[in-house]
Amino acid sequence: MSTDIHFQIKRSDRRKTISLQVKDSMVIITAPKRCPEQYLLELLKNKRHWIEHQQAKLKHAKLAVSKKSLHPEGILHYLGEPYTVNLITHPITQVTLDPDKITLYAPSEAHAETALLAWYHEQAQGLFLQKSLMAAAQLNKSFSGVKIAHYKSKWGSCSAQGDLRYNWLLIQAPEPVIDYIVAHEVSHLAEPHHQASFWKTVAFLCPHYIESRAWLKKYGASLHWPNT
Ligand SMILES: [Zn+2]
Repeated sequence: MSTDIHFQIKRSDRRKTISLQVKDSMVIITAPKRCPEQYLLELLKNKRHWIEHQQAKLKHAKLAVSKKSLHPEGILHYLGEPYTVNLITHPITQVTLDPDKITLYAPSEAHAETALLAWYHEQAQGLFLQKSLMAAAQLNKSFSGVKIAHYKSKWGSCSAQGDLRYNWLLIQAPEPVIDYIVAHEVSHLAEPHHQASFWKTVAFLCPHYIESRAWLKKYGASLHWPNT
């Protein structure tokens, strides 16, 4: 067994079966009390491919993956959670979300991508509108509308007329990050600048904004899609 798989064996009286759990670089094996250690080591060896696959998946989830792929085994992000892609050839285009996978029904891969992007936009429209309404109410402000847009180099904007715009790419980011961008743009309804009073308003709406801003600096670029 090579040295790069670290493991820990947990034994239990009540356990009748063996389970493997991959956590970062550690594999936790839960086994019945009397199960011979040699057997467990063999099992680890045989499961090596699967373990490496799980580790790669975890790593991707953390980095919010930059290589978007609709292929099976590809991983997509929605609200910061990784989902495996399940691509099914079907005459009628549809997107469904399950706890661990996104299923894309479409006649071709190109159609599947279009459907996925439309689905992301739709989810973004609903969520950003709802969050903007809540944040604006806290400031006793109103806005004229929420639009979901595609920007290459900004996450959102707030016009002098009170139009809020958000980059659809954010729907892939964790929800606290979305909350920060909403707090940022909604705060501009009251403070159309980036002075200290503006950041105080942002902090009032979103106390964790510093962490979320740091997340965007670090992982924001990985939210971008090829060819968009
Ligand atoms: Zn701003």
